[in-house]
Amino acid sequence: MRTEFLPFSSPTIDESDIAEVVATLRGGWLTSGPRVREFEQRFAERIGAPHAIAVNSCTAALHLALEAVGVGPDDEVITSTMTFAATGEVIRYLGARPVLVDIDPATLNMDPIQLEEAIKHCRRPRAIIPVHIGGLACDMDPIMALAAKNGLRVIEDAAHTLPTLYKGRMIGVIGDITCFSFYSTKTITTGEGGMAVTADSALADRMRVMSLHGISKDAWKRYTAAGSWYYEILAPGFKYNMPDILAALGLSQLRRVDEFHARRCAIARRYHEGLKEHSDVIELPPDAAAGGMHSWHLYIIKLNLGAWRLDRAMFIEEMKRRNIGCSVHFIPLHMHPYYRETYGYAPTDFPHAKAVYERIVSIPIFPGMSDADVDSVIDAIREIRGQFAV
Ligand SMILES: *Cc1c(COP(=O)(O)O)cnc(C)c1O
Repeated sequence: MRTEFLPFSSPTIDESDIAEVVATLRGGWLTSGPRVREFEQRFAERIGAPHAIAVNSCTAALHLALEAVGVGPDDEVITSTMTFAATGEVIRYLGARPVLVDIDPATLNMDPIQLEEAIKHCRRPRAIIPVHIGGLACDMDPIMALAAKNGLRVIEDAAHTLPTLYKGRMIGVIGDITCFSFYSTKTITTGEGGMAVTADSALADRMRVMSLHGISKDAWKRYTAAGSWYYEILAPGFKYNMPDILAALGLSQLRRVDEFHARRCAIARRYHEGLKEHSDVIELPPDAAAGGMHSWHLYIIKLNLGAWRLDRAMFIEEMKRRNIGCSVHFIPLHMHPYYRETYGYAPTDFPHAKAVYERIVSIPIFPGMSDADVDSVIDAIREIRGQFAV
């Protein structure tokens, strides 16, 4: 058994990250400035998208994206119930109504057939927010086709996808706007941070202006030699800009994104190999479909509950007793008090999400894990199986 606790996730920070942040601190420019512009440029290049706007969270990016495509009061925005709080709340920020849909239990992603049904029942549908759970791409072709047919915008919640491919295309070049997260557990981190990516220059301009108080372009320059004291407020914007200190960390993390991804893939392969003998009691996560690439931000196993004398919560407790941290992604939105009380959702409304929620466990995966760490997780599962499988 492990003597040291293995967290479910941990950021990978090395001396190059620290040096980059320290150099920015010594440079004397701390808020949004040249490092942010450079981070945006490098990020856009990595994705292959024309525009990238750095902000202080993915939540902020999603909010700006919905605002930019014109979502407003009484509009409807359709998203998957299997997501984090952020995806649903940004719809409410604009006074719009979140319309939730069920998932494909195999992938945990939005089911396009349920999406089509939901659109039929909407009065003022405006946008769809697909969520690529764990870094496995949603089936974007039918989603984009439904959006085109119904005149809807597609804002992707890509908090888990750096880097993910769908049929050879990078997540970030498919929907109208794609939003990434640099929260501490995500595939690259700035501590807190996010990025909105788009090919549409009008949407990019709107998000840029709204990310900093709705002030006319390049407002941040007003305190530099190149700037001027004069500015104009064009709209009541938000305070969502990313500071240069964080962009510095983002730049050095982005340089290693492929190295991080290679390690995540190796860990996922080791789990597949080590856990496949338990496939009668545990369902392993599917890899990407043909032409795709999984980011392996999360490695989500599903307990075949009938084969166990414990439930998911007890399984996580048993892992914890063996010094291994696990998590659950996610508790479906429709099962939370706010969504039940405000929109009248019942837990049974989305049977696939509810049933799969009771079975899912995210086991540790992050680039800093050693092979011995991975093996200790596999050993713990074998041990728990020995004790608790029927
Ligand atoms: C982390 C996460 C977010 C929010 O990201 P922040 O950068 O913390 O705002 C949104 N959606 C999903 C699916 C996430 O996992």
